[in-house]
Amino acid sequence: MNVNDAWSTVHMSTTATAVMADTAVENVAIPGSDRAATARLLAPEITRLTGDPSDTAREHAEHLISLAVLYGTHPFTPLEQARTMLGLDRAPFGRLLEVFQRIPALRTAVERGPSGKYWTNTINPLNRAGALDAATYHRTAFPYSVGLYPGPTCMFRCHFCVRVTGARYEPSSIQEGNRIFRSVIDEVPTENRTALYFSGGLEPLTNPGIGGLVAHGASRGFDMTMYTNSFALTESTLARQPDLWSLGAIRTSLYGLDNDEYQATTTKPKAFDRVKRNLRGVMRMRAERGSQLRLGLNYIVLPGRADRLRALVDFVAELNEASPDRPLDFVTVREDYSGRDDGRLSEPERDQLRRTLDEFFDYARQQAPGLRIDLGYALESLRMGSETELIRIRPQTMRPTAHPQVAVQVDLLGDVYLYREAGFPELDGAQRYIAGRVTPRTSLREVVETFIQDNKRIEPRPGDEYFLDGFDQAVTARLNQLERDIADGWGEHRGFLRAARPESDGNG
Ligand code: SF4
Repeated sequence: MNVNDAWSTVHMSTTATAVMADTAVENVAIPGSDRAATARLLAPEITRLTGDPSDTAREHAEHLISLAVLYGTHPFTPLEQARTMLGLDRAPFGRLLEVFQRIPALRTAVERGPSGKYWTNTINPLNRAGALDAATYHRTAFPYSVGLYPGPTCMFRCHFCVRVTGARYEPSSIQEGNRIFRSVIDEVPTENRTALYFSGGLEPLTNPGIGGLVAHGASRGFDMTMYTNSFALTESTLARQPDLWSLGAIRTSLYGLDNDEYQATTTKPKAFDRVKRNLRGVMRMRAERGSQLRLGLNYIVLPGRADRLRALVDFVAELNEASPDRPLDFVTVREDYSGRDDGRLSEPERDQLRRTLDEFFDYARQQAPGLRIDLGYALESLRMGSETELIRIRPQTMRPTAHPQVAVQVDLLGDVYLYREAGFPELDGAQRYIAGRVTPRTSLREVVETFIQDNKRIEPRPGDEYFLDGFDQAVTARLNQLERDIADGWGEHRGFLRAARPESDGNG
């Protein structure tokens, strides 16, 4: 072997070791990983970065891995709590945090942990946009996300829905409401193409002008998702409102997998057959038009239905028969996040789910290849065998200033709601969570700025926590954590993982 060969062998083996170390570190927060072996692999990298001798580096590696596991499992832990758990003084802990930021594989480990979805789906994008800092430091900012709630009514009466039976928006409010929506669409900055979405509140497709609103948003380049029950998504609706094809995605909330389940949930007889017919029709038409519209389902595992995931895959496979070359794009599966007792799965059911989630993925790979499945915050942890629970914000942990810098929702009257589950007409107590009203003379930006600058506060009452959906709860938990870290003197490292690109220190 000549010198060059010898060098390339050494180099290759060094590279192979580094790759092995990276892979081990990236997966270290997944339950069952070998933490001690990973610490041994990580230690040389720490020596390289810090110059620490190998025994000190090994100790640091163990601490860094503990942090990756902690934040990959419990993302909202205050830094002081993490420090106490490691038993470190402030100075060495601060140094450890700095080293953590310099090793990208550790960041990946947190994101691959059982609660990684909180980071990748919610915290990271909001961090990058500066929206969380704006809320933390009480700065004015245009909301990162704007939900438009255009539906005047809904044809279902789901048993878990907070909407008030019979309450609806007057048909006479639709025309003016749609004018307001168009003005809001004009205001939203276009840097974030997914800033706008249509949802409810009530059912968006009950608004006869919905196609025009979609066209207006699409003309500004927004990639908008519509959340709908798809009961009205008939071929004639699409023929009447062809602009619906300009949506980026339609996400159908699926309330069961046969007519009986649908009726038990929505009270509407034979609704399943109709929704299925509609979805098959949209899929066929989408293929014929060569449309880019993404189609997906949102399925909530309600109590008593933990064994239905196989049937969900069968349903997707049946839909795909209508369009074999352009199958359904995605399915999201969620637990009921509301925290209500009647939405919670029993322990035996959670056990059953835990056992069947892998099988569900395998079955989906066979029956609906290419289907993207998103388990969301809590079910992903359950699948990994972790006991992480959904975070539960209570009135005591709600933030009286809410987070309009992050998200607001606008209804047909122009009312700007601070939480996603508050935007229903006549809902008791929800009026308190209206930041203001968009009118021909008052823009959304003005409503939000006035709310922030006037330092308006809503003191939470028992039951108010139900106005927060899973996203609102995650944002609230994150803001509470950031505030705690700053108060504890950890402002520079607030929130543990920082944005991938530099952010301001929040004072500007
Ligand atoms: S959950 Fe949606 S579909 Fe069901 S009643 Fe409420 S608004 Fe209508």
